[in-house]
Amino acid sequence: MKVEIKKAVTLAYTLTDTDGNILDKADANEPFMYLHGTGGVIPGLEKALDGKAVDDQLTVNLKAAEAYGDYSDKLTSDVPKTMFEGVEEKDMFVGAQFHAETDQGMQVVTVKAINEDTITIDGNHPMAGKDLNFDVTVLAVRDATEDELAHGHIHAGGHDHKHDEGDSCCGGGCGG
Ligand SMILES: [Zn+2]
Repeated sequence: MKVEIKKAVTLAYTLTDTDGNILDKADANEPFMYLHGTGGVIPGLEKALDGKAVDDQLTVNLKAAEAYGDYSDKLTSDVPKTMFEGVEEKDMFVGAQFHAETDQGMQVVTVKAINEDTITIDGNHPMAGKDLNFDVTVLAVRDATEDELAHGHIHAGGHDHKHDEGDSCCGGGCGG
């Protein structure tokens, strides 16, 4: 079976930056699963996987623009410290990441600077601006279930879950 649209794909991968630092990895014990053709992985990687089969290994080098995008200064902003009321002091540091509700939906923001009355937050993806290398092995390919196709993502571990009406489908992360 080949990787194509509407297939559930299981991968092992090692993600490194251009200096060879490992940024992320998934192995056979804790593989990564996604629904092909739905933007479940970054476009450049999805394209490279198209038509591949089980046991295929590939190395995919992606420029930042094809991966998580170029770094944009426009995505940083100063917000009042009061927005982080309730966050413990030990959790507030440069580099800390928070989920924030934005116009584009739920987003991860990174604390870039802590100022007197404001916090400078950075809405860029943590890997924005980085050229990435993926060493990928295709571990499994199967047909996605109807539920998975309806939800637009994989239900790993066979757990059957229901989404309430208007629920944003567990933030897209119910497979994890
Ligand atoms: Zn779901």
